[in-house]
Amino acid sequence: MSKFLSDKFSSLSPYVPGEQPKDMQYIKLNTNESPFPPSQAVLSAAAQEAGKLQLYSDPDLTELLKTLAEVYGVETKNVIATNGSDEVLNFAFMAYTDKSHPAVFPNITYGFYSVFAKLHGSPYIEIPLKEDFSIDFKDYLNLNKTIFIANPNAPTGLTLSLDEIREILKSNPDNIVVIDEAYVDFGAESAVPLIKEFDNLLVTGTFSKSRSLAGARLGFGFASEKIIEDLNTIRFSTNPYNVNRMTLSAGVASLKDDGYNKKNAEKIINTRERVKAELEALGFYCLDSKANFIFAKKEGVSGKELYLGLKEKGVLVRHFDKEIIGDFLRITIGTDEQMDIFLSKLKELL
Ligand SMILES: *Cc1c(COP(=O)(O)O)cnc(C)c1O
Repeated sequence: MSKFLSDKFSSLSPYVPGEQPKDMQYIKLNTNESPFPPSQAVLSAAAQEAGKLQLYSDPDLTELLKTLAEVYGVETKNVIATNGSDEVLNFAFMAYTDKSHPAVFPNITYGFYSVFAKLHGSPYIEIPLKEDFSIDFKDYLNLNKTIFIANPNAPTGLTLSLDEIREILKSNPDNIVVIDEAYVDFGAESAVPLIKEFDNLLVTGTFSKSRSLAGARLGFGFASEKIIEDLNTIRFSTNPYNVNRMTLSAGVASLKDDGYNKKNAEKIINTRERVKAELEALGFYCLDSKANFIFAKKEGVSGKELYLGLKEKGVLVRHFDKEIIGDFLRITIGTDEQMDIFLSKLKELL
């Protein structure tokens, strides 16, 4: 740290992304990317825009917002697009949390929430998951604080029902409730339709997981017109060109070709269920994940040792050095071929 850094950032510990090692070719099952490349239509759309990179991108995000609104059945005024969904989450923390609006989220969830809260100097409360690692929606009723819930949750993959989310929204009418749907396409129910009913709901989504565009950085949010206005105030106060030209055009093409993405999501769901059954046959305890990963542990086997053993054999999975979940591995679902290699390396280790 230099002597120049503002005091307000001196104790910040940044988010640590999953490792992207360059020392050898790994089977990468550690950052929940899609194992499938973007479709041909997306590649051509991005390549075409590359020839116009001397020009700024559209600050109004017109084509993309229009297409997102069509695909999700909302109006353009209810949509924002951002540089990954991390950016819309950052905007939400900036806009809706402070000393008088503390943030609330589960104690086991996406690691970025606490980082964003600290970045913006907002206090936050972490609510423990239940013994079975699920979220008890009753813990989030009448809180009078800004609520962040990933649905499906990460890294558990467990979901809340729309009825439960509705109860949370109803009982916190004076506070924003953010539902982070990064993994929704792998089997959870989307809360997007609820934005018509609730003016305190912000639903965020991403092209990084089910739409094979993690490297393009594209996320979005759906909410009431007023919330979208707030978020745009922040967007235009930080970077009006937050989504680059190639990504804007790739995003539109991806939505127009969404059948390709849906087919890939289905493949991943099928592979997930197959691998889960095989892990259970090996004595693993697996949570009922509705995401593109499995969260699993085996009694008497150290999660850390298993992670290190797999890494040595060329398979990367995610291990979290956090006490309650230290025995677990989070295994991203890859192609069937990748998962077969994972399973055979795992059997060798056991
Ligand atoms: C991956 C992920 C995101 C954000 O991903 P982006 O690549 O920034 O869109 C947000 N929330 C959760 C829970 C995630 O796992």
